[in-house]
Amino acid sequence: MGSVTASETPAMATDPKFIFFTDFDGTITTADSNDYMTDNYGFGREKRAAGNHDVLTGKVNFRESFEEMMDSIDMPYDQCIQVLRESVNLDPGFKEFYDWAQANNVPIVILSGGMQPIIRALLDVLLGPGWNIQIVSNDVAARDGKSINEKGGWRITFHDDSIHGHDKSIEIRKYSSLPNRPTMFYAGDGVSDLSAARETDLLFAKAGKDLVDYCETEKIPFVTFRDWTSITQTCKDIAAGKTTVEAAAKGRI
Ligand SMILES: [Mg+2]
Repeated sequence: MGSVTASETPAMATDPKFIFFTDFDGTITTADSNDYMTDNYGFGREKRAAGNHDVLTGKVNFRESFEEMMDSIDMPYDQCIQVLRESVNLDPGFKEFYDWAQANNVPIVILSGGMQPIIRALLDVLLGPGWNIQIVSNDVAARDGKSINEKGGWRITFHDDSIHGHDKSIEIRKYSSLPNRPTMFYAGDGVSDLSAARETDLLFAKAGKDLVDYCETEKIPFVTFRDWTSITQTCKDIAAGKTTVEAAAKGRI
């Protein structure tokens, strides 16, 4: 393996003791923007739920399932962004977590299976302009001869060639291979997080969501969260030395 250069690990720029990697959709937000589009403007909830189940049980991979979902939406991209800006909300505790992380030199890195322009547009609404979060995600492209803002004009483009579309372990492993590396966290909720679940020191999995069942089946340590209030408290306790990442991985709480 080659050595990791500083430009590949931007979250190390401030020499942090902790890095918080997180999913975006359904984790920082209360609803998943891709699910919302699929349910309302694509092939619908039933087919999506069946697809998610097939991914969790290993019948199909996330990349194929997700591409099919996105292909079922023909609404112009600018209209997709507009409806999402009006319908997706921030997790009630995330702003407090963000402020704590900013004040305590804890970089936040979003690792998302969603598309970059939607994540950026939603963060502008949810956190206000000037937010300071690195985003590593999938993206969007125009279909041949079309613009993304016309009907049937866009398609998802994937971050890498993996079966996950975006293999979230790639970014995390740049940091886990560093000498004297920071303590690393991850928060997620569902099928897009399977490639990240084993990669950090402490995994927060959203209560009642698919990632919890997956972790139990696969025997991956985790702790559930209902909103970011408990994540903030746990991170504060770990930073203050009141608990450890091992002790905090309590499973369902
Ligand atoms: Mg998610």
